[in-house]
Amino acid sequence: MKSSYDCIVIGGGPGGSTVATILADQGLSVAVLERAKFPRHHVGESLIPETYATLKRIGMLEKLKASPFPKKESVEFVTENGKSTGPYYFTDRDPHERSRTWQVRRDVFDQMMLENAKEHGAEVYHGINVLSVLFEEGRATGVRAADNGNRMDISAKVVVDATGLSAILARQLKIRRPDPNLRKGVMYSYYRGATRGEGRDEGSTIVYRTEMGNGWFWFIPLPDNVVSIGLVADLHELFTGHGDDPTDTFHAEIERCEALKSRLNGASMLTNVFVTMDFSYSADKVAGDGWVLVGDAYGFLDPVYSSGVMLALKSGELAGDCIAEGIKAGDVSEASLSRFGPEFCAGMQRMRQLVYTFYDPQFSFGGFLKKYSDQKDNLVRILIGDVFTEEVDSLFDALAEWSENSKES
Ligand SMILES: Cc1cc2nc3c(=O)[nH]c(=O)nc-3n(C[C@H](O)[C@H](O)[C@H](O)COP(=O)(O)OP(=O)(O)OC[C@H]3O[C@@H](n4cnc5c(N)ncnc54)[C@H](O)[C@@H]3O)c2cc1C
Repeated sequence: MKSSYDCIVIGGGPGGSTVATILADQGLSVAVLERAKFPRHHVGESLIPETYATLKRIGMLEKLKASPFPKKESVEFVTENGKSTGPYYFTDRDPHERSRTWQVRRDVFDQMMLENAKEHGAEVYHGINVLSVLFEEGRATGVRAADNGNRMDISAKVVVDATGLSAILARQLKIRRPDPNLRKGVMYSYYRGATRGEGRDEGSTIVYRTEMGNGWFWFIPLPDNVVSIGLVADLHELFTGHGDDPTDTFHAEIERCEALKSRLNGASMLTNVFVTMDFSYSADKVAGDGWVLVGDAYGFLDPVYSSGVMLALKSGELAGDCIAEGIKAGDVSEASLSRFGPEFCAGMQRMRQLVYTFYDPQFSFGGFLKKYSDQKDNLVRILIGDVFTEEVDSLFDALAEWSENSKES
């Protein structure tokens, strides 16, 4: 490893590998410092179509087409009473291949992404735990890292934090703000042999609402006849009054969710129940002098619309172009590095608004679309991840009107 780079990227998840690929493609020297040895487990398997353009640009599309990952072309929502919206097919609004995406095993996908960054010229180092970002006179100048207990300082013109939920720089700078509206907990596991959809529904994500804690289950089909099943619910309700073992709560909730239970009949559970909690937050800003936040290290939104990897890829791509331009112009100030912020944050905010709507107890997709059928296209566009445009904003006007009316009635 050299002692100095144009850019150091901390973390080799989808956000980190995207920004590293974009920078290496533009001839800059870039090192990715990743704490874990890959492959490593990671939750978050369902992609959405808006990932297409970035995956194409960084050269991942053909690799994904050749992979065994199930193709996903819809998402379906089922109420707590078992009533389904039917699948919202992305390919019905636009038959182009960009409307079809994948359900991925993240250990495999993240390794493919990082290998791809390496092929494009990024240097990738595993087993390097970055301890802190170094600053001189308010400007980031590099990182302090530990390699098997050996400390080292490495300098860079720009430091990118792509450490996911660890968000080491936002924590170091104390600019990380949890979202009080989305205090959720999650339990998840993997099953083999569940009843999957057929034909074009085989790779569909299904979201089942539950009665407990304004919650829901995800059903995500993966390769080898495996499905990922996760339960998301209000933090307090999920972990209070159900005994000490999360497995009991998880199984009890599946028992209560008839529509999901029938799909899991005869399936075998492959892993213990993983638990994670209280993850929605965002940082006050996307960049400062000599530093940038990408993916979950900037902010994380509740996973109900599977937007996390798309947001990591999008911020990685936008940030990569901004950083390359800044380095080439000799300007890595906050003003220069944060130019991608307004576009990115406006898109993320649209997704956030629809997440808040999902948790509004009055809301149902079916009820809303019965009254505002002209908004179905905008709704599907947001489910696709097409949020970086004002064109979809009339959906939020309609939702506000609908919400006002449902309060009055
Ligand atoms: C319960 C749950 C369900 C989800 N479901 C979905 C879904 O269905 N679809 C979807 O798109 N998204 C989903 N997500 C979100 C998705 O997983 C994330 O948005 C995505 O992984 C973000 O990518 P990233 O590159 O920013 O971070 P990560 O993928 O988390 O990568 C960060 C990397 O940084 C490394 N790292 C951390 N700290 C250090 C350090 N100090 N030094 C060096 N390396 C470090 C880690 O080892 C890791 O490899 C879900 C998330 C949760 C919590």
